[in-house]
Amino acid sequence: MGAAACAEPGPGGPLTGPSPAFRPPRDDFPILSRPVNGQPLVWLDSAASAQKPRIVLDAMRTFAETHYANVHRGVHGLGHAATEAYEAARNRVAAFIGAAAADEVVFVRGATEAINLVAASFGRSTLRAGDEIVLTELEHHANIVPWQLLREASGVVLRVVPIGDDGTVSLDDLRATLGTRTRLVAVAHVSNVLGTVLPVAEIARLAHAAGARLLVDGCQAVPGRPVDVTALGADFYVFSAHKMYGPTGIGVLWGRRELLAAMPPWQGGGEMIASVSFERTTFKKPPYRFEAGTPPIIEAIGLAAACDYLAGLGLAGIAAHEQALRACAVERLRAVPGLRLLAAEGPGERAGILSFIIDGVHPHDIATVLDTAGIAIRAGHHCAQPLMRRLGVAATARASFGLYNTSADVDALAEGLMRVREVFG
Ligand code: PLP
Repeated sequence: MGAAACAEPGPGGPLTGPSPAFRPPRDDFPILSRPVNGQPLVWLDSAASAQKPRIVLDAMRTFAETHYANVHRGVHGLGHAATEAYEAARNRVAAFIGAAAADEVVFVRGATEAINLVAASFGRSTLRAGDEIVLTELEHHANIVPWQLLREASGVVLRVVPIGDDGTVSLDDLRATLGTRTRLVAVAHVSNVLGTVLPVAEIARLAHAAGARLLVDGCQAVPGRPVDVTALGADFYVFSAHKMYGPTGIGVLWGRRELLAAMPPWQGGGEMIASVSFERTTFKKPPYRFEAGTPPIIEAIGLAAACDYLAGLGLAGIAAHEQALRACAVERLRAVPGLRLLAAEGPGERAGILSFIIDGVHPHDIATVLDTAGIAIRAGHHCAQPLMRRLGVAATARASFGLYNTSADVDALAEGLMRVREVFG
């Protein structure tokens, strides 16, 4: 990427990012105006959790102040109003991800719970000992451990597609891993460590040609690029609201209607039943069959507001903005002595996530020194220990860009890393 990647600034003045078509709406995010350690906050940890715009916070507060009740229960007016708002939220989420119908959207606690749901329900009911589940080497633990638990319970076999040195997953390697016993392929849409964007539409075609289903972990994709689950051809797609500028405590399992309809419940309790006696219980249709107990009601309102917010800003513009910030950061960080970018470049698209190490400096020390300058990055294994092993490191420092970041944030990061070098010699 040439010098143009860091060209400053576009028509929007100093708040403009390196992609002149997109103006980061920083004023929408109250937290960005608070200092940290006496410095302006530079939030480069959106891949762990994104900050919340006022419109999301206001939507939840207004709902709680004016419409709040439990849902699907009360015959009182507020009960109806809350149920309507909750189901309207489901509709808005469905439209946001291109689902064919709202009943394909199951509200869960987050992506982790969504994958556990699929493993416990689809996995236990349809997979037999010796059936194979194909993962890639770059998966988050949330897309590894539930399948290992299933392996212990059902004897399924896990097969892993290796990644290349550039952090990409090759379709040839996937083809070579698929076999006659493959029943499920489960892959990240975007790596939470390297930003690699996996070719999930092609992966769907290969998985289906092999007679397997495809689950996509969209945690790092939904916040920063247009996602149409139907067009992608996936069978399950999961994500968490808190990474897409929404609240914690809610996420989504999207599943094809016919698959969800054939899946048994995985948790039992109130609201997921049609009738209960001590002899026998019958269950509601999806999505309610999978939403036992009181759901995250206020959070659903917040998630829908986050969808509307992102749709209003335009996901294509956000994607271009974050890619441009990443390209700018690659260029700036290369100038830091002793800094090594990890699998940062190669064919295919990259989202706004970048991992690096500095010779002789532990990633936690990098993050600690940056924090003194108000710059928040993540250091650690990022819940991707198999990927760390593949990269030959125990941990990385990771900068991740959100829609509110600017090229000034990239400058701050580059300067902060120079300071790290000074501190550690
Ligand atoms: N998958 C990916 C790619 C992630 O980045 C994360 C969170 O870091 C998860 C799954 C788990 O998300 P949650 O903790 O919100 O369930």
